[in-house]
Amino acid sequence: RWPEPGPRGERSRLVVLAGPTAVGKGTVAAEIKAQHPEIHLSVSATTRPPRPGEADGEHYFFVDDAEFDRLVADDELLEHATVHNRYRYGTPRRPIDEALEAGETVLLEIDLQGARQVRAAEPSATLVFLLPPSWDELVHRLVGRGTEGAEERARRLRTAKVELASQNEFDYRVVNEDVASAAREVVELVKAPAR
Ligand code: 5GP
Repeated sequence: RWPEPGPRGERSRLVVLAGPTAVGKGTVAAEIKAQHPEIHLSVSATTRPPRPGEADGEHYFFVDDAEFDRLVADDELLEHATVHNRYRYGTPRRPIDEALEAGETVLLEIDLQGARQVRAAEPSATLVFLLPPSWDELVHRLVGRGTEGAEERARRLRTAKVELASQNEFDYRVVNEDVASAAREVVELVKAPAR
């Protein structure tokens, strides 16, 4: 079934991976990068403080609010959004333009608000929605990772319900039953060079 040309007649090399909280977007993106180091994985700017083990410029560009404001004002971000009502995240525009110009495939792992902005800015982008195997499994994963308290979990699950209802805006849907297979499926969708 895959790969087929995207709905816009050609397969864009700008690929957006989005999906609800706890579906495993970050894990799948890291697995894609591990399987295909030649794919350019975008590094976002964020106002969130680094977690242990996260390196500036590698996982994110960690910036303060003033610097984020400057990036927005100078139009240096392809898209940006406040995620989970808390911190700001955005995709630096220049590295993406350079990678695309160099003929590389570019992968963005961003939230749904960002995915919509990329679609508006770059109509030929390929949007992939990552789905959990089931609603119960999504709840299970969110509880299992134990990074959020009960109230925050409930809030994220409400957001996830709304986000799942938007999956039809996407070009493709991939079920994250197993990380390695989900990563392979995404790559199948995009690996053929765009014409
Ligand atoms: P975390 O703080 O756990 O690394 O990421 C939280 C959320 O922010 C994830 O859903 C992730 O997809 C989203 N995110 C990360 N970078 C960006 C970005 O550049 N733009 C947008 N819109 N969302 C992002």
